Amino acid sequence: MSTTRHRPAVDADELRRRVRELLDAHPPATTDRLDFLRARFDAGLAWVHYPAGLGGLDAPRSLQAVVDAELEAAGAPDNDPRRIGIGLGMAAPTILGFGTDEQRQRLLRPLWTGEEVWCQLFSEPGAGSDLAALATRAVRDGDDWVVDGQKVWTSSAHLARWAILIARTDPDQPKHRGISYFICDMTDPGVEVRPLRQITGEAEFNEVFLTGVRIPDSRRLGEIGEGWRVAQTTLMNERVAIGGGRVPREGGMIGLVADTWRQRPELRTHDLHQRLLGLWVESEAARLAGERLRQQLAVGQPGPEGSAMKLAFARLNQQISALEVELLGEEGLLYDDWTLRRPELVDFTGREAGYRYLRAKGNSIEGGTSEVLLNIIAERVLGLPPEPRTDKDLPWKDLPR
Ligand SMILES: Cc1cc2nc3c(=O)[nH]c(=O)nc-3n(C[C@H](O)[C@H](O)[C@H](O)COP(=O)(O)OP(=O)(O)OC[C@H]3O[C@@H](n4cnc5c(N)ncnc54)[C@H](O)[C@@H]3O)c2cc1C
Repeated sequence: MSTTRHRPAVDADELRRRVRELLDAHPPATTDRLDFLRARFDAGLAWVHYPAGLGGLDAPRSLQAVVDAELEAAGAPDNDPRRIGIGLGMAAPTILGFGTDEQRQRLLRPLWTGEEVWCQLFSEPGAGSDLAALATRAVRDGDDWVVDGQKVWTSSAHLARWAILIARTDPDQPKHRGISYFICDMTDPGVEVRPLRQITGEAEFNEVFLTGVRIPDSRRLGEIGEGWRVAQTTLMNERVAIGGGRVPREGGMIGLVADTWRQRPELRTHDLHQRLLGLWVESEAARLAGERLRQQLAVGQPGPEGSAMKLAFARLNQQISALEVELLGEEGLLYDDWTLRRPELVDFTGREAGYRYLRAKGNSIEGGTSEVLLNIIAERVLGLPPEPRTDKDLPWKDLPR
């Protein structure tokens, strides 16, 4: 993707004109939701920075806010981004960056409209932070790859039509080199999804067993053996997707605690007040840093800065939700339902304080643990000496497991 733009092809006025055209042709009040979303994609108003013909208009990314605001004001439906975050935030930029024209044409539209949900088959029981150690094998057989292995912690696998998958195609190469990147059809024979119950009592994620799954070579993303490089695009975007969402001032978790503070004077103590003020200021600093990150994104791909955002997001979510539970006292411990639910999205603001407190625990693990993100920042932002890596040149098959 180009990092310099001399003159935007489409400016804010032009986008407003196109939005009006879309609304005239498909009035939200009388148009089926999915029909509206498809028409919005076809008009290039889905993600304006994407290429024309793929839901965008090659416009600066920062102008997306103009489109979103106009459509919201007109009461138009959105694509429920929290439900399809893996597709939007991780699969789509990877398909755009490495997919063939055919893959982009087939996959991006139903991904954006939410007709096809995506999941991420990366982590394994023996490969999380050290993801490149993964053991799922893909063996070439004619025009297909035959995949065998086990993935774990796979969010939304039970809802997904497609998965982004990394698997080992050459065990003789060092661990980062013998990996390839595939698109796996979750409805294919040999894909088995089992729920994993988490601390909230719900099963938002799964373990996924892959047994003799046949993936046509036409569903490979990037070159054979280049999967690690392709996966970096996914992982960089994942951190931004988790930690870099746009929130209004005093929005998100801090807004909920601030509201409780204002409305319930009987709960207040001096100590809690000091902590609330500190977290309010930090949330605002994180929000503004997020705005700056989005400006950088408008002219290029996310870099290690996304790791810093995700790190701050995880710490703040955990501290704010803990403060909220403390503030609410016994009430904060109430939890509505311990039956095994299979939620379609992570809902930080629509649920109770107990849910927020429990679910926030996972924020410092998912999408790269906070310890690993600190390593990335140390090496790639601060330029500190890297961790010793003694296994990086050894063939994967010779690594102790
Ligand atoms: C809510 C949730 C959703 C998830 N969804 C998905 C998903 O959809 N798809 C998917 O593929 N994965 C998913 N994951 C998995 C997630 O990416 C991994 O859990 C994560 O990468 C950590 O790997 P691990 O669990 O194997 O822990 P490990 O890598 O075993 O880490 C254990 C501990 O060791 C520390 N550690 C490890 N290496 C280092 C190091 N070099 N330096 C310092 N400390 C280190 C870690 O920080 C951690 O505290 C999800 C996880 C959660 C919690």
